Amino acid sequence: MSLLKINNLCTSLKDEDKKILKGLNLEIKKGEVHVIMGPNGAGKSSLANIILNNPKYKIVDGNIFFEDKDISTLSTDEIARLGIFMSFQTPEEIPGLKMSSFLKNIKQNQCDEKINLFKFSNEIDNLRKELDIKEEFINRELNVGFSGGEKKKNEILQLLLLNPKLAILDETDSGLDIDAINTVSKGINLFKNDSNAVLIITHSTSILKHIKVDYVHILVDGKIVCTGDKSLADEIAKTGYTKYI
Ligand code: ADP
Ligand code: MG
Repeated sequence: MSLLKINNLCTSLKDEDKKILKGLNLEIKKGEVHVIMGPNGAGKSSLANIILNNPKYKIVDGNIFFEDKDISTLSTDEIARLGIFMSFQTPEEIPGLKMSSFLKNIKQNQCDEKINLFKFSNEIDNLRKELDIKEEFINRELNVGFSGGEKKKNEILQLLLLNPKLAILDETDSGLDIDAINTVSKGINLFKNDSNAVLIITHSTSILKHIKVDYVHILVDGKIVCTGDKSLADEIAKTGYTKYI
């Protein structure tokens, strides 16, 4: 069954007539890992934001279905509640908000019953150890003064805590050292199972080394111009996008 199905998606900015996606089609089924690569400005982050209905963008044509439900008019929090998670290319720093309170709130928002704080702290403790995040970070303000790698590991911690049906990871690996890349791919593998799916937006193949990838798409100027298997990512790493532009 299709988890996400995007048909002929054409989008622009809400306040400007700038076209961004120009007839994009994409189908992601349960159990699959998809990768989107493409030159800067191709529309990769916009695609992720539009799936989550970021109000800066508007859909001009086409539609987005999640588990056969049209989600194009739902609000971001409604879409998230259906089970779509997005990690940010540049996670926000939120002064004054403790990471532990943030994590507790996002988890509580997902549950009908009050969460058991003892179980919750244990869960966070286990996850942070898996992701090699020091305990002190849990008591710091969200992302404030975190390095690029620490912010991205924090995004993966949220992914594992929320356990969505579809994870969209926007350049979760960019700017990371090799150890942090390995930790992020370990986190993705911990998350992945036969009933969920992952969409990885990336420029590099190092994050893909330890991940079983089903499809690689090349996004150029708002459209998917080529789809292949993992070997397509290796080709791009060697020869770049020139052939597809
Ligand atoms: P990518 O992630 O592939 O590098 P983006 O999706 O960030 O590309 O951007 C696609 C195009 O849309 C770019 O030309 C970018 O400048 C433009 N764009 C995206 N979001 C905005 C925005 N909020 N305001 C102005 N231009 C935007
Ligand atoms: Mg981007």
